[in-house]
Amino acid sequence: MKVPKEMEVYCPHCKKYTVHAVKTQKTSKKRSKLGHAERLHQDRLKGYHGFPVKVGGGKYKVNIQHTLLLTCAECKKSTLKNYPRLKILEISKE
Ligand SMILES: [Zn+2]
Repeated sequence: MKVPKEMEVYCPHCKKYTVHAVKTQKTSKKRSKLGHAERLHQDRLKGYHGFPVKVGGGKYKVNIQHTLLLTCAECKKSTLKNYPRLKILEISKE
């Protein structure tokens, strides 16, 4: 699905409808390397306790949850907006 480059949505900072620039926001977090579970996982990859077995394995959700980063043209503050699950999200270049 194509998403327009600019959207006119409500800005909670200006308290009115203004033009917003649209960007995609990556929501996935990086694992910290010092966490307890991550240390156990690294031990397993080294060869202790056998090789880690995938749980489930099958990919049952095809569509991805997208989050848009909307930046207000007037106050330059940005808000996040959840978008419905889609396979591909494209921002049009016009
Ligand atoms: Zn604003």
